[in-house]
Amino acid sequence: MKKRWPLAAMLTLTLILSPSAWAADTHSFQREAMVRKQILERGITDGTTLTAMRTVPRHLFVSPALTDSAYEDRPLPIGYGQTISQPYIVAFMTEKIRPKAGHKVLEIGSGSGYQAAVLASIVKEVYTIEIIEELGHIVRDRLQRLRYGNVRVRVADGYDGWPEQAPFDAIVVTAAAEHVPPSLIRQLKDGGRMVIPVGSPFLVQSLMLVEKDQGNIKTTSLLPVRFVPFRRGR
Ligand code: SAH
Repeated sequence: MKKRWPLAAMLTLTLILSPSAWAADTHSFQREAMVRKQILERGITDGTTLTAMRTVPRHLFVSPALTDSAYEDRPLPIGYGQTISQPYIVAFMTEKIRPKAGHKVLEIGSGSGYQAAVLASIVKEVYTIEIIEELGHIVRDRLQRLRYGNVRVRVADGYDGWPEQAPFDAIVVTAAAEHVPPSLIRQLKDGGRMVIPVGSPFLVQSLMLVEKDQGNIKTTSLLPVRFVPFRRGR
């Protein structure tokens, strides 16, 4: 009878021969723990959001020095005084806009590109605007390298939105604004949803849900949050 390699022995051999397979395995383990402890246990149940959070390699959106912290329950610095949001907040905002496969979504504040990648793994097209030129270039390169071909990055002040691509099924703003920019409300489709942190910079802000229904605007306060300030001009 032919001798078969036991599965465990083969797996061990694969990991010894390929350190990158070992690293990949460690990260998927950490990512699964992040989804269970930080996201599922806190009440996020939307299947598409959970799948996106399970898929997107968050550790590739931070600097190599922070790779080991990538799946921790907190925001992390990404340079230029900016941060990648806490995983739970990314999941929460994603769930609240109810993303669908055919959607076209606008994000203001590309930062690391992580939220854009999470959205891009669910919807058809993502348009993301970053005001800091260097970050915009880093994000464009990163998303290309990771093959998120359905994201377009623009370096600009997101206050004016992206009129050439409007209207959008949903808009996600990831910097704290003093008020909801009127151009973003205009660029939201009827039936569309926007999430935006509103309040004073450096204080606790309120994450608002803005819904457009037959031209009427309804706003609901969802959660106290702390985001970096929404800047103006370039
Ligand atoms: N969504 C990001 C987190 C971004 S932090 C992520 O997943 O990593 C907020 C970002 O918004 C910062 O990069 C900041 O430079 C950017 N920002 C602030 N004001 C802006 C504006 N008016 N237009 C576009 N981007 C802005």
